[in-house]
Parts: sequence; structure tokens; C-alpha cells
Amino acid sequence: MYKEELAAVPFGLGEPNPYNKFFTGTSYLNILHTDGVLVANVTFEPGCRNFWHVHEATKDGGQILIVTYGRGYYQEFGKDPQELLPGDFVFIAPGVKHWHGAASDSVFSHLALEVPGEGTSTTWCESVSDREYAEVNSFHKSTPVQQTAGRDQLGAIAPEFARLNDDILFGEVWSRGSYLDIKKRCILTIVALTSQGLTDSSLLYHVKNAKNQGVGKNELVESLTHIAMYVGWSKIWAVMRYVKEVYAPKEQ
Ligand code: MN
Repeated sequence: MYKEELAAVPFGLGEPNPYNKFFTGTSYLNILHTDGVLVANVTFEPGCRNFWHVHEATKDGGQILIVTYGRGYYQEFGKDPQELLPGDFVFIAPGVKHWHGAASDSVFSHLALEVPGEGTSTTWCESVSDREYAEVNSFHKSTPVQQTAGRDQLGAIAPEFARLNDDILFGEVWSRGSYLDIKKRCILTIVALTSQGLTDSSLLYHVKNAKNQGVGKNELVESLTHIAMYVGWSKIWAVMRYVKEVYAPKEQ
């Protein structure tokens, strides 16, 4: 139960946060230092996040976050969120609208340092809605995909094509942190190849890759059944044979 985790967070839990009216959910504040620079430990229960806000300053100022426990998110207005893990460091420039808080399934703590400046204050804005927050929680950090098939198979005859295949298509497109997880990327790629009728060895590779990345047989079969009437029945027959070969080889 996460209540036990709360009691054990580094730098101490402190008291219920007096600013909780600007938070969704419950947070805790442990002020560690006030002389010259304000340093506090902020702990968020799972699902807790603060409202959109701005650290104002006429000179210098801003806020530093040092993540010490759990998993959470930081997001600047209009930008992709950043997943935060222990050891991550964030500088929030003055004037930048943002929020920070826990992931939906994790207790989360960060040290918050108020960078000294002139004319400093905090402007609190609207809450992070449940819909916005749910979408952020489906954001996945980059999972680098290593690929050498281009160089292995075509490096001698087409080195630039091989580089684009390995370093750009797989190294960047497949590896990008985003709202799509790797399993969805696998299914979409199989759907794209199947719909073109590209039921060759590259499709077999992608069915094997899907299994390796944790795509379930039922999820894949249902995806292909769903698209069958759109893309053409015979293409689905071809890909289903690969699915059987990869997922149920004993039934051949
Ligand atoms: Mn802040």
C-alpha cells in the first residue's frame, strides 16, 4: 500500500501541503531550508499533480526540481510531457506555464528549489483536467531500437539506404518517445505492410518483432480481423499464416 511508501520517502514527508487547493489530489510539503534559497521536499500521492502555474520574476528566479523518488511528469504548456525518474533534474525558467506531479500509479517526490530573484511570485492557473492527465500517462519515454538489418543485408551495395534504415527509420522513428508505445508501433507497421500486400520476409520479421515486444496473439489476430474487409481478404490469409508460424508453430 502506498501509505507505507509515503512514510519512507527520502527527505521526509512533512505535512499536508498548505497549497493543496492548487493541487488535484493530495501532496505533502517538507520545508528543508529557508535562508537565502527556499528548498522543500514535495511528495505527491499517485495521480496527484499541481495546477498549471507560472513562477514569475522580474529578474532571475524560476524553479529547480530534483527528482528523488517514484515516477512522475513535468509538462510545459503546448509541449510534450517529460517522464521524470529519480536523478532527473529540471530547470523551469520564470514565466513558463507548466505543471508537475506523480504518474497515476506511483508515489512521487522531488526537491523544489526556488531560484532567488527579484519580483518573484507564483501565478496559479487552471487544473490539469482528467482527460489531459490521462493522455500524459500514456506518454512513453524513448525506447531505443537497435537495428542492423540495413547494414547487414544492403550495407555493401547501398550504404546510404542502409544508414537511413538502421539509424533513421529504426533509430529515430521507431525509438521516439511519444504517446504511442512500442506495441502499437508494431501493430501499425504490420497493418501498413499487410494493407499494401507486402506479405514477404519483411512482414514475417515484423510479426516476430511484435511477439518479441510483447504484442499478444489475440490482440494481433483481432487487429488483422478488423482490417480484413478494408484491405482485402487474401492479404489477411497471407499474414495469418505468419502469425500462426510465429505464435503457434506446433500447430503447423
Ligand atoms: Mn513549478
